[in-house]
Amino acid sequence: MASTDAPPLDANRYRQDFPILSSVLHGDQPLVYLDNAATTQRPRCVIEKIVEVYERQYANVHRGIHWLSDQSTDLFEEAREKTRRFINAPLREEVIFTTGATGAINLVARSWGDANLQAGDEILVTEMEHHSNLVPWHQLAERSGCRVKFIPITDEGRLDLEQLPALLTEKTKLVAFTAVSNVLGTINPVVEIVEQAHQAGALALVDAAQSAPHGRNDVQAWNADFVAFSGHKMLAPSGVGILYGRASLLDAMPPFLGGGSMIHRVTMDGFEPAELPAKFEAGTPPIVSAIGLGAAIDYLEDIGVDNIHHYAQMLTQQAHDVLEEVGGVRFFGPPPAEKAGIVSFTLEGIHAHDVAQILDQYGVAIRAGHHCAMPLHKRLGVAASNRASFYFYNTPEEIDALADGLRAAKRVFRR
Ligand code: PLP
Repeated sequence: MASTDAPPLDANRYRQDFPILSSVLHGDQPLVYLDNAATTQRPRCVIEKIVEVYERQYANVHRGIHWLSDQSTDLFEEAREKTRRFINAPLREEVIFTTGATGAINLVARSWGDANLQAGDEILVTEMEHHSNLVPWHQLAERSGCRVKFIPITDEGRLDLEQLPALLTEKTKLVAFTAVSNVLGTINPVVEIVEQAHQAGALALVDAAQSAPHGRNDVQAWNADFVAFSGHKMLAPSGVGILYGRASLLDAMPPFLGGGSMIHRVTMDGFEPAELPAKFEAGTPPIVSAIGLGAAIDYLEDIGVDNIHHYAQMLTQQAHDVLEEVGGVRFFGPPPAEKAGIVSFTLEGIHAHDVAQILDQYGVAIRAGHHCAMPLHKRLGVAASNRASFYFYNTPEEIDALADGLRAAKRVFRR
């Protein structure tokens, strides 16, 4: 066990809430689910909430003048309010339901980006971005002629912020960066980066897809202009995500998708957009997934986001310790204390996919590949890596099972 003081969190107690975690694979291997950075599992309370809504409270929202639609609308708006509190957004209008972090970032690129950027302007991202916070800016560059520049990382897997002042110029319109790297696990200094972006006259977009499940995400403390994250990485159903945007910015932005719900009035000649948040929620929204997100937030807040963060860090430290003992493991990213529950590595002489396949025979689920971060892998000098990612329902015994699986892989490949 790691030397870190044990936090007040009983993983075995919480595991009881997750039916899928008692799965047995390949006949006799208990599931060891260590792919939480890809997506987390759902507790019974979220699953039951979904069933309850579909069985008793489901209709389209904001439309029907009938009892069932009122029920559904109330639950949907309650979920928005829970989300607002969770990220400490000042106003409910600033919380937009999207399809996920990807949907949220694309919304900003298409709406704010198309309206505000032109040839010669610059967008600053980092070398550790997920493709979701990279490709939309490349696409914007293709449309507008603006340029995408990169904050480099150090060999230790931190952002090289010494370069930031020189990279920020009067042409920089946006700094878009991840709060936590989905590969390196690095926890970035959000407040510092936002502050420097603002001092240079740029806006700041925070990709909180990996930080939202792991601790405090206070958009006011961050002073961020836009924040994007996904429900499915924090116990909620897939298909729902959040864009937080400063009201003054969202107000000035044109709608992205057109259709029902996002209009105030439509005529033969055109339309007037609705007020926030409806302006950015065209069509039928992810009603039940959003309500499920509300239930997930209740559950996470009951456990305590700080407890979750400390516990995941303890598992991260343990993973470093036991994987070190396996031998031949190359870790990526900074020391465990600077990571949020994500440990990426390669096992000497064995392809990442082979490692993951052998682990799967032992019931251990991890990720292999480039994890939607190809530029980062190029910088690391590898085509692929393995990634184990932890959540509060993982146990120290599961980290040991990961190490045992790696030993087995070494035996198979005689390494
Ligand atoms: N940003 C980061 C850092 C991620 O890890 C991910 C997903 O892995 C995303 C964005 C995209 O999230 P989604 O696929 O839910 O839109």
